[in-house]
Amino acid sequence: MLKRLLGHTLMCREASRLLSRGEDAQLSWLQRWRLRAHLRVCAMCARFETQMRFLRTAMGRYRT
Ligand SMILES: [Zn+2]
Repeated sequence: MLKRLLGHTLMCREASRLLSRGEDAQLSWLQRWRLRAHLRVCAMCARFETQMRFLRTAMGRYRT
């Protein structure tokens, strides 16, 4: 069941790509849900998101 659930989530590569580009805010609700779901089950990507969020906060608003 867990395996099936994981199948609906994003792959690590896709998740890290979205996170590093800060594209999660532009995703559809389904994509965002899948990203959230992946972060719940993947400690590696969850940590990556925390780092990205910290960096973005540290750099301030670089997007206009
Ligand atoms: Zn992952």
